[in-house]
Amino acid sequence: MVQINNIHKTYNPGTENALHVLKGIDLTINQGEFVSIMGASGSGKSTLLNILGILDNYDEGEYFLDGRLIKNLTETEGARLRNELIGFVFQSFNLLPFKNAVENVALPLYYKGVGRRERYRRAMEELERMGLKDWAEHLPSEMSGGQKQRVAIAGVIAMQPDCIVLDEPTAMLDPSGRNEVIKTIKRLNKESGITVVLITHFMEEAVNADKVFVMDGGKIITSGTPYEVFSQVEILKKRRLNVPVATQLCYKLRACGVDIKSLPLTNEECISLLTEVLK
Ligand code: ADP
Ligand code: MG
Repeated sequence: MVQINNIHKTYNPGTENALHVLKGIDLTINQGEFVSIMGASGSGKSTLLNILGILDNYDEGEYFLDGRLIKNLTETEGARLRNELIGFVFQSFNLLPFKNAVENVALPLYYKGVGRRERYRRAMEELERMGLKDWAEHLPSEMSGGQKQRVAIAGVIAMQPDCIVLDEPTAMLDPSGRNEVIKTIKRLNKESGITVVLITHFMEEAVNADKVFVMDGGKIITSGTPYEVFSQVEILKKRRLNVPVATQLCYKLRACGVDIKSLPLTNEECISLLTEVLK
């Protein structure tokens, strides 16, 4: 679905403030995949996401979306492809404060020309899917952060995009809100086969992905399954990135000579590995 070859991006080119932010990015995302992009602050994640979402242009390289070269598009062409294929979720919840949950979800459908009854039917269906059926009539101010973010996701999904891109969607949430949102995203990916691109710097969230890309200094420094990536404990630490606590703990225990066969990614895996050792 997404094929990015050797992409470069410089902000303010040709001026003294020129900033070469993306330095040759290669990225492949298949239809239906759940991909996570990680990296320290300033490593270029949002810049890459904006290019991927046709919100910004790139200078060098190639980007194919659904087999189509995304380069030199007019404003209208870009907007059309974007609306057709991609849904965005950002840190802030992007909800209208004076509209209730179902109205918020239905609003983008109005702009798409969907009739009133169908709008509300689809909005209710998506809220139900997010586990928010009973919250349809509530205003954003009456909901928790996790609920608001799920309303925002419902609004995006109601537009039936092929791909949903989320730029640190849990950054403003408490741990239980984060958990709610991530579980929802994962379920959405598994049940409806929607392609998910999740930017996060919470490692515990990235372990849910099929594939993880790690960025540093405008490059992708490593990628692979969560297991392949997080086993590289030392490399990630050098890049100012943490690995999940469960992985770190077992990594250190192993260094102390404890016989741990594989490194866990989740607390549950960690517990079962340690139980085995303690027997
Ligand atoms: P991340 O999302 O990984 O934190 P960004 O892609 O937002 O990183 O930013 C990468 C670098 O580009 C940062 O140094 C940031 O200050 C700079 N940057 C981001 N957007 C712009 C812009 N519109 N103009 C100039 N510099 C920018
Ligand atoms: Mg960012």
